[in-house]
Amino acid sequence: MDTEVVRSDIQRSCHVCGSAGQVVYSGLEDRLFKAPGAWDAKRCLNRDCGLIWLDPAPCPADIHKAYANYYTHGDGAASSSFLQAIKEKAKRGYRAGKFAFEADKATAPDRLLGFLIGLLWPGREYLDYGFAQLADLEKGRLLEIGCGNGHLLALMSRWGWACVGLDFDDTAVGNARQKGLKVVLGDLESQRYPEGQFDVIFSSHVIEHVADPKAIVAECLRVLKPGGRCIVVTPNVLAWSHRLFGRHWRGLEPPRHLHLFAPQSLRNLVASCGAEDIRIAASARIASRIFCDSLGSCLDLGARHRPWYAMLGEAMHVVEWGLMITTLASPNEMICVFHRPLLGASASTAASNE
Ligand SMILES: [Zn+2]
Repeated sequence: MDTEVVRSDIQRSCHVCGSAGQVVYSGLEDRLFKAPGAWDAKRCLNRDCGLIWLDPAPCPADIHKAYANYYTHGDGAASSSFLQAIKEKAKRGYRAGKFAFEADKATAPDRLLGFLIGLLWPGREYLDYGFAQLADLEKGRLLEIGCGNGHLLALMSRWGWACVGLDFDDTAVGNARQKGLKVVLGDLESQRYPEGQFDVIFSSHVIEHVADPKAIVAECLRVLKPGGRCIVVTPNVLAWSHRLFGRHWRGLEPPRHLHLFAPQSLRNLVASCGAEDIRIAASARIASRIFCDSLGSCLDLGARHRPWYAMLGEAMHVVEWGLMITTLASPNEMICVFHRPLLGASASTAASNE
């Protein structure tokens, strides 16, 4: 088999609403991880949708070739520098104060540092991530789809959740298991979980990679308990930096990102699968990385330039945070929270009846 060619399938219509699309980018290439091929992306012509998708897209039999050079998750080991120690104290104090997370381990200086970070630092979104979306719930069973090295899963376990993780990457699964976490190699559908198993499902930067987002959302709703909560995190195509960088925007990531959502297309997708109580929040959490990678791709900067534009990325995080809280522009990421209905037809039935 020719490993230099990723075979593809035509994707004529929008996965969310079935409308036709208009080509917005031609000949996109993978400058980051050097997957072969040149790819076209379409935008849905339905103004109440706005989905962007690859057409043609890698066929299921060849999609693995798009991941041949893709980064694997490291073990997430922290450095032991003095600055890192201060950061750890601030994190501990912040989460203890805001979420009662391991409150018995936070000293008074930790809490003071945490309080100051809460006042001043836009990066507190990192510290809220995962906690803020679950803080109002009783602890129960949590499934993370695409858990990587298990960073979030470990935090949630320490917070009192009974956690299970899924990931495709066998190195990441190995690293997560070494931390004592319960992690399975594979995708959601192949687990064949009985209905109503989980109180919460968390999925960060997965839905844009899957060929059939409706199927995975429907399956999430099926395996959630009635009233259970799903959190889906994904790039936002309406982001200001997408407008700035265009075809070089990091969020496009051809050919691994098959579907890219605007808030409305994501809302429409999960609603069509039977979800209720849908909320979509903006997040500037990944601003620095998106900015740096987009700039590097746009100017074709090599790794040797990374230090100076990494500093610029930190500044752009503050800029994006400011744009977000003043609602002047959309940030790069959105966090969609939705629920399985308490009563009525199961989610899978709702999706199949469309
Ligand atoms: Zn559409």
